[in-house]
Amino acid sequence: MIKEKTNYDIIIVGAGMVGATLACGLAEEAENLSIGLIDANAPNFDWDNNSFDMRVSAITRASQTLFKNIDVWEKILELRVSPYQDMYVWDAEGKGKVHFDSADMGEADLGHIIENRVIVKALHQRVAEISNIDLLCPVKIESINFHDDKTELVLDDQTTLSTKLVVGADGTRSWIRQQADIAVKGWDFDQAALVTTVKTEKHHENTAWQRFLKTGPLAFLPLTDGYSSIVWSTSPDEAKRLTEISKNDFAKELEQAFESKLGKIESVAGRAVFPLRLFETLNYVKPRLALVGDAAHTIHPLAGQGVNLGLSDVASLMTVIVEALNDKKDIGDLKVLRRYERWRRADNRSMLVAMDGIKRLFGSELSVIKDLRNAGLNLTDRITPLKNVLMRQAMGLNALKMDSNSK
Ligand SMILES: Cc1cc2nc3c(=O)[nH]c(=O)nc-3n(C[C@H](O)[C@H](O)[C@H](O)COP(=O)(O)OP(=O)(O)OC[C@H]3O[C@@H](n4cnc5c(N)ncnc54)[C@H](O)[C@@H]3O)c2cc1C
Repeated sequence: MIKEKTNYDIIIVGAGMVGATLACGLAEEAENLSIGLIDANAPNFDWDNNSFDMRVSAITRASQTLFKNIDVWEKILELRVSPYQDMYVWDAEGKGKVHFDSADMGEADLGHIIENRVIVKALHQRVAEISNIDLLCPVKIESINFHDDKTELVLDDQTTLSTKLVVGADGTRSWIRQQADIAVKGWDFDQAALVTTVKTEKHHENTAWQRFLKTGPLAFLPLTDGYSSIVWSTSPDEAKRLTEISKNDFAKELEQAFESKLGKIESVAGRAVFPLRLFETLNYVKPRLALVGDAAHTIHPLAGQGVNLGLSDVASLMTVIVEALNDKKDIGDLKVLRRYERWRRADNRSMLVAMDGIKRLFGSELSVIKDLRNAGLNLTDRITPLKNVLMRQAMGLNALKMDSNSK
């Protein structure tokens, strides 16, 4: 099918959580901007409400505010969310533990656990309401050509789309990043995350639980009706084994690994394994190209920050583009895009390094390290100001403060 419109101000490749948010945000801020939003896959929004998506995200206050600003938060609430008020983190190899309580922060909750499919559905509902976004999916891009004044995308039906700026929001294995020859610098984790949904004997009490085993962290994230979403990080071989054993055996092993904190595991849904990666691209931008979200940086899920960092990329890139438009500058110009890169790199890199450090700290067999980390957890638990600083960071409240200061 030959497309009617072939020329856009911006084309965003990837209509997932990050790319679709960027499209809605830009459309909200700049009504005259023409936006093409392309995805290789057509999402399936026809699901059984008695089941949960295996993939969920802990959404921070900063991300919630962004969703509110683009009229998506209400749609998410109508679908399904689980606010959580407490978080317990403890070390399997000692007595170290820390408890965060939203009441201590004067907040109603610490954040929300939301199924990824819910976020994407709400975003696509919003996209459908906006006239200056054309959603093209499923569409396969065959080639991309960067020129001085435009980027061209050749689709598999041989339509050529052209744009002043292409944004790669196509996830951790980004095709756009590869075509643009942007290298990545990463660490090999040799870890995988097993995800599933379980029903437990005791209610999770709207608490996010995380136990650090020496093989990796095990998280129970609260869903509605007393269900919990499991993210169990371990070696790839062990993750594979855990998907192959019977549901009964898996339930027993999970219960044991979690010290039966929520009693018996009463039911287990389907299990899936995701390889874990940690990398950052050497550049986030090139002339007529910007990368956002997992395409630019991918981190360990242990602190539930991956998509939140991607949404912070969106907020920054939106600001940079809108300011360039107001100043009548070319939005695909490298000088304009470099501002976005400088803005986001420091934040993303510090989170990457922190996640790597925490993962290594809890993986250490050295008794001196074990003693230190247990003492550190207990100390954090007792020093309220330190706890509040950590929690503000994790909830994205510091990012909100920075944004309002920069206005
Ligand atoms: C087990 C696990 C648990 C996690 N938990 C959390 C959490 O609690 N909190 C959190 O913040 N983060 C979490 N993350 C990270 C989070 O899932 C990612 O950061 C997030 O999905 C990235 O969003 P994205 O839109 O950048 O990429 P994606 O979600 O990967 O979306 C990419 C989109 O691009 C499309 N696409 C791909 N290739 C092409 C192509 N060639 N052409 C066109 N379209 C294409 C895809 O179809 C998709 O729609 C977790 C990750 C894992 C693995």
